[in-house]
Amino acid sequence: MKNQLLILAAFILCLGVTPTYAQDWSKVEIKATKVAGNVYMLEGAGGNIGVSVGPDGILIVDDQFAPLADKIKAALKTLGEGKLKFVLNTHYHGDHTGGNVVFGPDAPIIAQTNVRKRLSEEQRSKFFNRTTPPSPKEALPVITFDQAVSVFFNGEEIKVIHFPRGHTDGDSVIFFHGSNVVHMGDDFFNGKFPVVDLEAGGDVEGMTKNVGDIIRQLPAGVKVIPGHGPLSDVEGLKAFHRMLTGTTEIVRKRMAAGNTLDQIKTEGLPEEWKSWGSGFINTDRWLELIYNSLSAKRP
Ligand SMILES: [Zn+2]
Repeated sequence: MKNQLLILAAFILCLGVTPTYAQDWSKVEIKATKVAGNVYMLEGAGGNIGVSVGPDGILIVDDQFAPLADKIKAALKTLGEGKLKFVLNTHYHGDHTGGNVVFGPDAPIIAQTNVRKRLSEEQRSKFFNRTTPPSPKEALPVITFDQAVSVFFNGEEIKVIHFPRGHTDGDSVIFFHGSNVVHMGDDFFNGKFPVVDLEAGGDVEGMTKNVGDIIRQLPAGVKVIPGHGPLSDVEGLKAFHRMLTGTTEIVRKRMAAGNTLDQIKTEGLPEEWKSWGSGFINTDRWLELIYNSLSAKRP
């Protein structure tokens, strides 16, 4: 029986339930940075957390991983004594929603309709080589919306707007209007090629369009929290948009010239985009994501 359990455990590991996230949580430190107005950013492991702190209490945008919840709570305590009142999820990925299971019982979780849908069901991803079981009830968003919702909190309107077909099919971008801060979720990887979850309704051209639309409506001097990478601003987001546009154009032209994915990878990308491939998505994987995203829409 013991052997069977060991085999089962090994099998589950092979399925990829944990390896992507397997790490020594004890080594992770949560670093808090003041962004502007009421808003702070927490960095640890996984997606950047946005925090609103003030007289109404605390609101967080995303919550990384459950094993980090105690450290996140300790970091929040250093920012303010108030209670956690709301949790927003920018999208369903486990490195942004893993803490839901701990924070959900403390405060209502708000997210776009597709986030709850995806968290409620088993998610199989070939790209991540991972099967994620349905989340328990307490980890699910209890308030969902299709297009947009506003939370009036700590003296400002916090507007949560859905942008379809970007990083996933359930992305939200969070605008802290009074503080002049925006949390982009994973529609912005600062200085790195992004993950685009094509199996969950993501689309490279959709992400490019969304980022362009957001840039046009951002006020001057706004601080921009990316899903991953250091705190940024409009210039940083514009550089990301130029990268999306430029690299997609290259792949589109090569596809039109009849090049295969292998040929496109062999040719690579110009030096200009080299440093963007030093993160989770290297240049080959990025070219593959663009290729697959464009191919899916070909007649
Ligand atoms: Zn993500």
